[in-house]
Amino acid sequence: MNDIGLVQTDIQNKTSKEVFLRLQEAIVEGTLEPGSRLPSERRLAEMLNISRTSVREGLRVLDAMGLIEARTGSGKRAGTFILERPGSALSDLLRLNVALMHFTLDEVANLRVSLEVAALGSASQQPNDKLIDELGSLVTKMEHETSRASFADLDAEFHLKLSQLSENRLTSYLINVCHGLILEQMRRGFNNVRDWTVTRKKFAREHCAILDAVKIGDIVAAISLIKAHLDDPYH
Ligand SMILES: [Zn+2]
Repeated sequence: MNDIGLVQTDIQNKTSKEVFLRLQEAIVEGTLEPGSRLPSERRLAEMLNISRTSVREGLRVLDAMGLIEARTGSGKRAGTFILERPGSALSDLLRLNVALMHFTLDEVANLRVSLEVAALGSASQQPNDKLIDELGSLVTKMEHETSRASFADLDAEFHLKLSQLSENRLTSYLINVCHGLILEQMRRGFNNVRDWTVTRKKFAREHCAILDAVKIGDIVAAISLIKAHLDDPYH
């Protein structure tokens, strides 16, 4: 690429980044609400005082990040919308970073422990009854589940639900992202356990003890139990 090409690319990157940042700002400020339709490319170009090509480029970045979606159709249902539930962009990005060895699975696993402890640390002492019932039924299922693969799924679901005790939804979201990355490793770990019956009973007991501590509002005990539970090399 010649010098002019490089300069043009640089300008293009700056303007598309500008579109991305301006749109992000508008979402944070509430000017553009989740679920709402974005103005047309022409209108956005006028609003941001940049070319329509740059607008398109910025929208492509948002689209790749799973933050917006183009919908076909007619009338008000057609156009580009800001997604209320963003896609899997963050987990995809982290997965790519793990694949490229920018982050190791051990780092993800360590982050998961910190996040799960943080989630319990900010849990209410009077937990939501519905959540407690759902956790209870997961514990019961795990007590009877003999398949390693199904146990791993139930186990991940238990931890994810447990994280919902935190009133910070971002903590729970990030735990979900970490689980997505380490689930395969956890399944392999379960497959390598020699005496599966003993181990699965131990895990089921540990989940039950964590839940019991949460039920009586003993968060300190719940944190110490979850740390010990996640310290298991097969978990
Ligand atoms: Zn577990």
